Amino acid sequence: MHGNSPLNRKLILLVAIVTLLGVWLVDDPHPSFQSASIPQPITPFSAELDAEYGQAPTNTIRGSRSGTLVTLAPGQNLTTLLGKQGISQRQVALLAMAAESVIDLGRLQVGINIAVAQPAPGQHRVRLAREYGELVQATYVEGQWHVELLHVPTEQLAEEHDLVIHNSLYQDAEQNGIPNAVINSSVMALSHFVDFQRQVQPGDLMEVRFERTEVVSFKPLFSHLQNPLLLTYLRFTNAGEDYRLIRYKGSFYFPDGRLAQSFLLKTPLNGARLSSYYGNRHHPVLGYDRMHKGIDFSAPIGTPIMAAGRGVVKRANRYGSFGNAVVIDHGDGYETLYAHLNGFAEGLKPGDHVQQGDVIGYLGRTGLSAGRHLHYEVHRHGRAINPLDIKAPAQARLQGSALEGFKQQLAQLKSSDSQLASLAP
Ligand SMILES: [Zn+2]
Repeated sequence: MHGNSPLNRKLILLVAIVTLLGVWLVDDPHPSFQSASIPQPITPFSAELDAEYGQAPTNTIRGSRSGTLVTLAPGQNLTTLLGKQGISQRQVALLAMAAESVIDLGRLQVGINIAVAQPAPGQHRVRLAREYGELVQATYVEGQWHVELLHVPTEQLAEEHDLVIHNSLYQDAEQNGIPNAVINSSVMALSHFVDFQRQVQPGDLMEVRFERTEVVSFKPLFSHLQNPLLLTYLRFTNAGEDYRLIRYKGSFYFPDGRLAQSFLLKTPLNGARLSSYYGNRHHPVLGYDRMHKGIDFSAPIGTPIMAAGRGVVKRANRYGSFGNAVVIDHGDGYETLYAHLNGFAEGLKPGDHVQQGDVIGYLGRTGLSAGRHLHYEVHRHGRAINPLDIKAPAQARLQGSALEGFKQQLAQLKSSDSQLASLAP
């Protein structure tokens, strides 16, 4: 899943029906840890951008490279933005319909860069990102838009940071150039053992290793999106304890192969950002405080959602304001709920037995959801509890071929970094 994506193309032909669509913009109202700065509305193609285009595989590029990079400003819509580039209101409406199954052009993120070109008189070409590494390319020829979804090759760049905590974990991490998403993942991985509200002291030590996914071409078109980050190794020294966690197949393990997490995952998806905590929160629109009975994770639409633990599927269907939701019964009074899903794992139905880490559905924004995210709840005897408060570690341990695979990965990790060479077997 971290290799270069093969070039995957879909060609969608539009049979033109002239209907004027209202093209509107929706800001993601979800609370965010990072606020992106908004670039200037219109940036001419620079030599640098042209060079980026030149790096793309030749079969993803057709026609002229000349064109303009435009940026969606707050309060602006696609019709006015593209109108300035000579694309008519009717053509934008046709584009929205032609691209409907690939991207919702009425919900573009403010700050997104769109490349507009005129390959030949009377033709237009529009390129914009759908998710990180996914490019929508629309070409207008002879009264029709041809829409393709292109996967831009990516590379994984490993990064490592050491950190001594002086003030607060997040503040110190920021000063050391560790992305918030990495700290969130670290806090969640460690929350089975460490109470970050009370236990963290000045002088505590943290070491993180993570992979940053970068597109190798078309970079300006992805600049409004967060690079996917994956925490792969974590060391934390706190109050005389020394925790070393290694990611292996989606879960964290101690160097001796013991599972370093509870019987329920705190993060039932990979590469996500914790975007809203459990507990009372101030409603941004209604202005009053209300209880948030779960935690929210922000990640791209379609991100696989995993069963937090082994159990039996209780429901996998529409569930009121939760939209598409899955509920799993883990026994001992524990249940987990996964809401706003785009869809379910194929064939998933009540009564199915699942293991921890099995894919049960895909992230979406169904139901009463302001933006794409996973809403995740854990219940004990019918009452919601904070998923981050589950402490009891599982007794599970890797065995047989899984343990061998893990040891190989650990050996690789050690050989690539002498600092890790002191790890236990
Ligand atoms: Zn929520």
